Amino acid sequence: MTTQHTAALVAAARAGDPRAQDELVSTHLPLVYNIVGRALNGSCDVDDVVQDTMLRALDGLGGLRTDESFRSWLVAIAMNRVRAHWQARQNGFGESTLEAAEDVADPGADFVDLTVVRLNLAGQRRETARATRWLEPEDRALLSLWWLECAGELTRAEVATALELSPQHTAVRVQRMKAQLESARVVERALDTQPACEELRSVLAGWDGQPSALWRKRIARHARECVRCSGLWSGLVPAEGLLAGLALVPVSAALLAGVRTTGAAGFAPAGAAFADGSEGASPRARRGLRRHDDPAHAGRQCERWPRCAAQAPAEPPQGGRRRGGRRLRRGRRARVPRRTAWFR
Ligand SMILES: [Zn+2]
Repeated sequence: MTTQHTAALVAAARAGDPRAQDELVSTHLPLVYNIVGRALNGSCDVDDVVQDTMLRALDGLGGLRTDESFRSWLVAIAMNRVRAHWQARQNGFGESTLEAAEDVADPGADFVDLTVVRLNLAGQRRETARATRWLEPEDRALLSLWWLECAGELTRAEVATALELSPQHTAVRVQRMKAQLESARVVERALDTQPACEELRSVLAGWDGQPSALWRKRIARHARECVRCSGLWSGLVPAEGLLAGLALVPVSAALLAGVRTTGAAGFAPAGAAFADGSEGASPRARRGLRRHDDPAHAGRQCERWPRCAAQAPAEPPQGGRRRGGRRLRRGRRARVPRRTAWFR
């Protein structure tokens, strides 16, 4: 889509043309989904954050400086919502850390798996996609933008704007993240090697099988010092080349329908702007859904948190019910397949 066409759509959408709003959403939803999905890999809140982003963008069109800058403005809102999600998680909605952690992931919605399967990735491309699981959240958010820059979907200027950093600072952050990604690729190689390195087995004795930055460092340190594993560092094709021209992971029909439905129901007059994504009623609130920390929430509408559900006097939550066009999944934290079995 050309910048001129986007600008025309933005102008029409701001004026209230529902077809223009719909086209604006459906055209840009894959971009936002790929940013949020990769940044919050595996979180059960990905669809909510994507919807928040799209609806805040629609509602905030009146505050957009120039219609041509819609795309980079939208990317910045997406990152803003990712940061807001982290903040909410840190606050834990008043719940314990354990309960918050159990709510983190969504079975069957692992964006890394989706990327590998939907884009048919193999070899070092698959290795790189899997390696993203080992990054710290901040690096994964940066990677979500940089991945799209490599794929040709975003410019460096758009990445820097979304990160609220100068181009120079962005370059430094990208270099640091790439070094972590490279280590993570070697970690993937070390875990995939058969038969496994005996010394690595003993290093992994206390590992719970979940990718983490701490275990990335431990396994990478082993791979640097181990005679047998040190060869794994050679032959790494630069990630930029691997990601060049990669397609976007397609959006599910349920997510698209959800954004369209809630967008049509909740579109506010242009000018009620929260262009920075920080003010105004959230789409969740507009859908009549309350945050878990809202006393009025009372569990009645909550299908996710056991404590909330337990407080609901009637209408026990039903599995698989749709909310905002998306199937909610319940249960304990989803985990990527444990890999320790290979080392026992
Ligand atoms: Zn080794």
